[in-house]
Amino acid sequence: MTPDHNTVKAMWEQRDRVTRAMSEDGLFRVAVIQNTAVTRTAQQRHELDPVRAVLLARALTSASLLASFMKGEERVSIMGDGSGVVKHLYAEALHVGEVRGYATVNRQPADPSAPLGAGILKVQRVLYGKQEPVTGVVELRQGDVTSDMGYYLTQSEQIPSVVVIDVTFNSQNEIVQSAGLLVQAMPGARPEDIFQMYDALDAMPRLTSLFDKPMSTEAVIDEVCPIPMTILETKAVDFFCRCSLDRFKSILLTLGYSELKSMRDADQGELVCQYCNEQYKLTAADFDELLEQSLARQN
Ligand SMILES: [Zn+2]
Repeated sequence: MTPDHNTVKAMWEQRDRVTRAMSEDGLFRVAVIQNTAVTRTAQQRHELDPVRAVLLARALTSASLLASFMKGEERVSIMGDGSGVVKHLYAEALHVGEVRGYATVNRQPADPSAPLGAGILKVQRVLYGKQEPVTGVVELRQGDVTSDMGYYLTQSEQIPSVVVIDVTFNSQNEIVQSAGLLVQAMPGARPEDIFQMYDALDAMPRLTSLFDKPMSTEAVIDEVCPIPMTILETKAVDFFCRCSLDRFKSILLTLGYSELKSMRDADQGELVCQYCNEQYKLTAADFDELLEQSLARQN
């Protein structure tokens, strides 16, 4: 049965979305995201405490904001490695709206009071027409992701940028609202244009408070930007991972016959996707099929 117009409309209204816009004078591009479902799904899937949940939410939000300025299947990943309570942080977003990621615990943090602590932030883009991914690395500034992203974009990519990310929790430490904003100056923006924009963003209310009103992503852009904006596009964003049992099987095939056989003999049929924490169980029949295919490859 095809859902009726009102049902489709209601489903769309509940989905996370990112909107990108350009100032009418062409000097700034802006993206605003409301991604509560994405970040809450990430928190639930990976069973994250608030510290890891907020860091992962910021990384997922940053990735989606950057991806909104890309094209088609182009994608961006953000990796953080630190000395704080989070050891490794990973988020990956496709322009089409898929985003996934994880945050791993540091069992023996050198800096137990810091979220990410000291370390590096790496941003990698896979772009059409480029053979190799475009990669940039900076040292973590504050290890909170948000200011590190602003620093990375401004310093490493040489684009004056402001990143604002706001995540709120309820008393059960569950994410209840998540939103982000990215503003980038385009070539031709003068220092006074940039300062005017920075001043306006400094004075804006908390992002989540705007979405709590509620406001749309488009309305938030008009609200926070001090100059007239043209809305270019709004896209749905979902926590989504392309993993599947078939994908895992094709990876396992590359291990070779003897490795597969010892996995089966040791009853190691449980697979967990690190990106989305989905669990897969290989049956005896799956192993038989893999071993048969592996033998056929050898011959
Ligand atoms: Zn997965």
